[in-house]
Formats: sequence, structure tokens, C-alpha cells
Amino acid sequence: MSIFILGEHEDGQLKSGTLSCVTAAQQLGEDIHLVLIGSGVSALSEQSKSLPHVKKIHVLDHADYAQPIAELVAPALAAIAADAQFILAPASTFGKNILPRLAATFDIQPLSDVIAIHGPTEFTRPIYAGNALQRVKSEQKRQLMTIRPTAFAPVATSGGSAEIVAVTPPAAPARPAKFVNIEQVKSARPELTSARIVVSGGRALGSAENFKIIEALADKLGAAVGASRAAVDAGYVPNDYQVGQTGKIVAPDLYMAIGMSGAIQHLAGMSGSQVIVAINKDPDAPIFQVADYGLVADLFEAVPELMKTL
Ligand code: FAD
Repeated sequence: MSIFILGEHEDGQLKSGTLSCVTAAQQLGEDIHLVLIGSGVSALSEQSKSLPHVKKIHVLDHADYAQPIAELVAPALAAIAADAQFILAPASTFGKNILPRLAATFDIQPLSDVIAIHGPTEFTRPIYAGNALQRVKSEQKRQLMTIRPTAFAPVATSGGSAEIVAVTPPAAPARPAKFVNIEQVKSARPELTSARIVVSGGRALGSAENFKIIEALADKLGAAVGASRAAVDAGYVPNDYQVGQTGKIVAPDLYMAIGMSGAIQHLAGMSGSQVIVAINKDPDAPIFQVADYGLVADLFEAVPELMKTL
């Protein structure tokens, strides 16, 4: 039973969601393959050789794949993993962009956001913004799934010795889509989805200027910055800070929710955190129902106080 993982990488590094996919793949079988598609990914494949449990790394290194455009990557992956029984990708923007197109190519139903594997045909995934867990039995001839990285601990990056296989690029791919540009916020802070501590702010901050208080607290704690959709929609911070059902899923050791109500769609993105601390001036705010520690206070007084004691 061959299991193919589509590797997500950036700036020459594998993203930790791929390492979580290797953990998930181990629960399906032993014949684990990693697929790396991109431009200049040969160095990355050398690094990836030492990933434990991975038998083969299929490397498609070509200028056409410099950007992970689903319209190009999905057909290339379909050719590389033509005989695979399982194809896995992280449930990140990257994986969620490519896997549905691949599923359409194979004319099968993908399983999204898998959080537990019970056997080769049975999986658990959250539905209704995480309010219910669905146990799915899929008897399709192959399984395509996105794996929620926070549900599977990443494997170590050493200990393996995979074989590297260079893939011949397909003849000039059709170009139904073209890369124009990417606007990306580069930050010295830890990446939101893999940070050990996340400090998030909500609508209560009131402005981008006021939101700096959250960023200052995050910097003091070496944390990533998150936000509610209300804070993002109001333009206080860029939308890649959004945590929740339609944002990023995080499960840090410590999540601080400051000036946010704890709407169900927000909880869908952070309720797996180890310890949740909430600061809200309304004692009835729903966030206190999931918080391990709650402080009923005005954030504009509580956060500066907290900063002084750190
Ligand atoms: P509010 O709900 O307005 O809460 C602000 C809180 O701040 C209140 O509890 C208030 O008591 C408190 N407060 C006010 N002033 C202070 C002060 N000075 N000090 C301390 N506390 C104070 N939301 C997400 O976050 N992520 C998502 O991914 C997401 N996806 C969605 C998808 C759909 C389909 C829909 C319909 C909604 C989605 N939402 C999402 C929106 C969500 O429903 C809420 O509207 C949003 O999370 C509210 O953000 P908030 O908690 O910052 O604001």
C-alpha cells in the first residue's frame, strides 16, 4: 500500500505540516513516499533524505513549478502518484488548494482535515466548525486526504535514508493559470501555525495602532501574533493573522485571547491549545468557557500591567 505525501516547502525548508503528514502516513503503512515539486528543490531533497520512515523522495525540479499553482501541480502529482493508494497533503492553504483539484482528476471524493486514522478506510474529521466529529468510512479505490497538522506530532528530521528519484518534467504543461505576484508579510516572529505561544487580539483593540499592544506582548513572550476575523476585517492586521474556521488552525502550548468574545468560528481554530488564557471585560463572554485562566478586566489596563511584570 503506497502512501504518497505532497511536501509543502518554503524558502528551501520543509514546512512542519509535511512532517506531521509523515506521522499520519505511518499509521497507514510502511511504503511512504515524499513528493517535492518546485524550482531549485534539489538541495531540499538532500536535506529531506534523512526524514525517518520515508522510503523514496520523488523530486520534480523545474522552473515551471517555481510557484505552487494548483492547475500545474495537481496534474504533475497525479502522474507521479498514479499508482498510490493514499495521497496526503497538509490541511494548509497549500494542501487545501491542490488536493481538491487532484481529487477531481481522479474523480474521487477527498477527505479533508483528517484528525485521526483508525485504519486504511476509517478516519475522523471535524465538521460544523469543529462542533462535531465525523467518523468516515471510505471504500474508494484510493484515499486522498488533507491532514490537520496540529493533530499529528511532526516526525524528527533525522534518522532516515530515503532514495531520491528525479522526475522528468512533463512536456510543457498547459497554462490555465499564471502566477502574477505574491504579497506576503515577512516577520521575525515565529510562524503562527507552529508557534509554541500565540497572542491574539480581537475587535476590542479598536485600531491598528492599538493592536501594537498585542504585538509588543507577543514579542516579549517570543510568540506569534493571531487575530479574530473581526480584527482582520477591520484592517487592524493582515488577514494571514486570522485564527479560526476560515483562518489558521493553531494548537500552541499557550494561547492568549485578548479582547475577543470567543465566537464558535474562532474557537474552531484554537480550542486544541494546551493552555488558554482570556482577558475580557465581560464576565459572560463565551471565551471564558474554554479558557483555563480568565481575567475579567479592561485589556488596556491589564496588558500594560502584565508587560511590566514580565
Ligand atoms: P467581538 O465578538 O465583537 O468581541 C469583542 C470582545 O471584546 C467582546 O467579548 C467584548 O466584551 C470584549 N471587549 C471589548 N472591549 C474590551 C476591553 N477594553 N477590554 C477587554 N475586553 C473587551 N471569526 C474568527 O475569529 N475566525 C474565523 O476564522 C471566523 N470565520 C468565520 C466564518 C463564518 C462563516 C462566519 C459567519 C463568521 C466567522 N468568524 C470568524 C466571525 C465570528 O463569528 C465573530 O464575528 C468574530 O470572531 C468576532 O471577533 P471578536 O471576538 O474579535 O469580536
